[in-house]
Amino acid sequence: MRKRQPVVFLGHGNPMHALADDAFSRTLGKLGRELGKPKAIVCVSAHWTTPGALRVTHMSRPKTIHDFSGFPEELFAVRYAAPGSPKIAELVRKTLGETGVELDDDDWGLDHGAWSVLRHMYPDVDVPVVQLSVDVAASGDRQLEVGRKLAPLRDEGVLIIGSGNVVHNLAEMDWSKKAAPVDWAVAFDSFVKRKTEDGDAGALSGSPDGMPGGSESIPTPEHWYPYLVAMGAADGDKVRWEYEGIENAAISMRGASFGRN
Ligand code: ZN
Repeated sequence: MRKRQPVVFLGHGNPMHALADDAFSRTLGKLGRELGKPKAIVCVSAHWTTPGALRVTHMSRPKTIHDFSGFPEELFAVRYAAPGSPKIAELVRKTLGETGVELDDDDWGLDHGAWSVLRHMYPDVDVPVVQLSVDVAASGDRQLEVGRKLAPLRDEGVLIIGSGNVVHNLAEMDWSKKAAPVDWAVAFDSFVKRKTEDGDAGALSGSPDGMPGGSESIPTPEHWYPYLVAMGAADGDKVRWEYEGIENAAISMRGASFGRN
């Protein structure tokens, strides 16, 4: 019997992490080696937002997307030429069981929410990757539901990865490496840590205004929602923190796995 795959959430931070060789990149490399290679990865990335719909990449050779500006040429030169998997994409649509899930044959590909972390985690570029978009118009409860529906894929050898950031406020970001974390970022990050350890997904899926530091930490939902999808897919499995910390004052670099044995 194939072992049930864990679920992973990766705080990805700023795109320059893709080029770094540091404690963070080495943590991702170690995580990839410890988890081993899954049959395929379904990555829910903060950087593919499709309000009112869900889309899944269906191409066999997804292109590398450089969805940012103002960064060095070296970052634009990065390619992560992992194969796609039309079969897994079709399985994702079937599992979600809805006509609202569209197969994408020629629009998207792999954006930096996926490749900036995957190139450290799976540097051999040999695991098929499918991206699933984030419906930013839907509620937090809906994100948990999407995750729960995806959970059976874990038994098919699929590693579900959410890639975003628990706290993500670009307006309050400070590029200094020494920037101290702001209070509301620490408050929200700690709240999420506690509620996750309690297995209380329902305490996290409501309005950001109802959570300590929530409104400042989630000015827009796209980086937060992949966390809720991951929690849904975790299906009650115990969390393990792979890394944590606040960088640039207002970005939480929290990474989690669920169901690692
Ligand atoms: Zn991002």
